[in-house]
Amino acid sequence: MNVLVINCGSSSLKYQLINMEDESVLAKGLCERIGIEGSKLTHSPAGKDKLVIEQPMPDHQVAVKLVLDALVDEKAGVIKDIKEISAVGHRVLHGGKYYSDSIVVNEDVKKVIKDCFDLGPLHNPANLIGINACEAAMPGTPQVAVFDTAFHQTMPEKAYMYAIPHEYYEKYSIRRYGFHGTSHSFVSKKLLEISGLDANNSKVIVCHLGNGASVSAVVNGKCVDTSMGLTPLEGLIMGTRSGDLDPAIVEFIANKEGLTVSEMLNVLNKKSGVLGMSGGVSSDFRDLDKAALEGNELAKLALEAFVYRVAKYIGAYTAAMNGVDAIAFTAGLGENDKTTRKNIVSYLGYLGAKLDEERNNIRGEEALISADDSKVKLYVIPTNEELAIARETVALI
Ligand code: AMP
Repeated sequence: MNVLVINCGSSSLKYQLINMEDESVLAKGLCERIGIEGSKLTHSPAGKDKLVIEQPMPDHQVAVKLVLDALVDEKAGVIKDIKEISAVGHRVLHGGKYYSDSIVVNEDVKKVIKDCFDLGPLHNPANLIGINACEAAMPGTPQVAVFDTAFHQTMPEKAYMYAIPHEYYEKYSIRRYGFHGTSHSFVSKKLLEISGLDANNSKVIVCHLGNGASVSAVVNGKCVDTSMGLTPLEGLIMGTRSGDLDPAIVEFIANKEGLTVSEMLNVLNKKSGVLGMSGGVSSDFRDLDKAALEGNELAKLALEAFVYRVAKYIGAYTAAMNGVDAIAFTAGLGENDKTTRKNIVSYLGYLGAKLDEERNNIRGEEALISADDSKVKLYVIPTNEELAIARETVALI
């Protein structure tokens, strides 16, 4: 059974076709610059040459058509007919308070995705267009929506409510939702599987550290808190997002610089984080590492502040859960950057957490990285959001 996983961003579409018999990736690819000049599809079939198509993609519907054509292409294709696709799993950013699980798409589901446009203005509209485009191109093939917010729906009210007038929750559903749910779910399940912890008596923390970054606290397999909020802007310092800050800063800078509120949010989402803190060096930690080594003090500060914020969240979640049995690091930085992991763990001595430097000397592979006498087990667990979406899809059809 082949499952097509689709992840539509505001101007992009990422996809993977996965053979669920052995969970191998048959092909993956990316449509970039949808709706803007210079649209491009890069299709990478397993064991064959890449196919690059540069032609206008005015909308996601055209992009979906090109992807399906590439999948059955005579040379770069991996299937003969799109009927060989049994189902499509769509990553959908925001399911609001309505969905705590993935669901087969019907008109009601589409209405909820639409009702959540306000909460995910860049992604939800693109996600819905992607679903409609796939339905049109593959009538009768089941479409499944996998929500980025769903895993966090088990958070208790005390964790998800903001201390603002209650009417805003009632009128506009303003609350914390959390994101990266598929990754936190996938990694926390894997962590329980490989650590030998009792799934019904476990307290774990997942640190998803990539360009976007978030931490979650998971008790007995259920999320009890996470660092992102109404939008992905809250929480950790990220590549370009500020994470937590005093909201009064928005008005202060807006007045001084003559910016509107939405221009300020653009600054906080796209120009802040380690990029902003480092004085514009980079949002990529590899560039920051290099600059810091060359003596750039602001790059050094950004890296230190990033690590410090992660350590503070681990401390907060340990307190919230009254303990922690295991911590997992995942995503670009969590999987690949041993120095960042080491620096974070250096704050955790009070928990009796001890890193084994030799075990930590790995990249992108699943491994225990704590010492045998560490009181908290530490792991690197590569995330695989596409596979998680494909598995959810299969489970539902
Ligand atoms: P993601 O958003 O999960 O794809 O993660 C992307 C981020 O991971 C990039 O911004 C890099 O800073 C970081 N990253 C990936 N590989 C490495 C590495 N070998 N060392 C340090 N950072 C890395």
